[in-house]
Amino acid sequence: MIRRVALIPGDGIGVEVVREARRLLEALNASESLGLELVDWDLGAERYLREGITITDEEFAALAEYDAVLLGALGDPRVPGNEHAKDILLGMRFKLDLYVNFRPCVLLSPKLSPLRDLVGPLCLEIFRENTEGAYTGMGGSFKTGTSDEVAIEEDVNTRKGVERIIWAAFEFAGSRGRGRVTLVDKANVQRHAGGLWRRVFAEVGAAYADIEQDAMYVDAMVMDLVRRPERYEVIVTSNLFGDIVSDLAAEVTGGLGLAPSANIHPGRVALFEPVHGSAPDIAGKGIANPIGAIRCVSLMLDHFGRSDLGERVEAAVAGSVEAGKTTPDLGGEYSTEDVGQWITARVVGVHAAST
Ligand code: ATP
Repeated sequence: MIRRVALIPGDGIGVEVVREARRLLEALNASESLGLELVDWDLGAERYLREGITITDEEFAALAEYDAVLLGALGDPRVPGNEHAKDILLGMRFKLDLYVNFRPCVLLSPKLSPLRDLVGPLCLEIFRENTEGAYTGMGGSFKTGTSDEVAIEEDVNTRKGVERIIWAAFEFAGSRGRGRVTLVDKANVQRHAGGLWRRVFAEVGAAYADIEQDAMYVDAMVMDLVRRPERYEVIVTSNLFGDIVSDLAAEVTGGLGLAPSANIHPGRVALFEPVHGSAPDIAGKGIANPIGAIRCVSLMLDHFGRSDLGERVEAAVAGSVEAGKTTPDLGGEYSTEDVGQWITARVVGVHAAST
């Protein structure tokens, strides 16, 4: 079976980290006969500046025919309005209706956490609604630039949208044996939206009586996430709160450079991207941490039904941290390429040695 994977390195460190993810995919493709066809896509700031095009309708349609997309990062100081990032990334999420934004934050070693007393294990798995909430662009401005200016940003919550992300979170928790699902909202202030989320959470959760369930206000939850993060397992929340909570969870478990994400609509092309951005401050220096992108490969393999290989990748990543084979953001002295090569050799080599 052939599986087509589009690689979009994008901007800044996206190019450097996707190179390492590609190295790993190629090596696994050869050693495991995965049947992957890797296709490079030239989308990003360079193309936008060169041709004035972000992404065309034909390109969206073509990407929809792939099995997976791996995107590095989008963002370039030469495009201050970030038009290309909005068109490409939000466009894919919205046009392809990729409603699950899955962001697992796993602590590989207590030494990576800024929390003093954390011993782990810690695995925070965030299900962020990905197609509505505050990200629809609905709203508008009035009397812009005057002292009477009005700015309205709508927060859109549909029964369908809320229900399907909550189902996804419970389905995942149930099938992976997780003990708790936590809903995060601000139902004491956003009464209409909060009421909908809480009702649906209780309704869907009724089918999962073995799983502990609680609903928390986002302000209380983020405090608690710093105080006792080990209490949390699967977290389900709206688009905006998911964006914020997942950055905090990523930081608690070692920083942006380590965190992967998947944008999924079952049965459709899945989009994988590291949580970090294009980091222009370190782009081109060869020191970007490739682990977020490499863990995207792990999520992709899981998505393709090869969780055995995904686990091998995770084990190799943990091994690199353990051995101190890391980039400077984790205190190491190795380059992006060194780390990518080390992890790839470990994934392919250790297995070959043991069979
Ligand atoms: P965006 O708005 O696209 O999320 P951002 O500028 O807010 O982007 P990032 O680009 O993710 O945030 O980077 C924030 C900082 O974190 C960077 O300046 C960089 O120093 C650091 N950083 C991010 N990703 C990595 C990485 N993979 N390796 C090392 N450092 C990183």
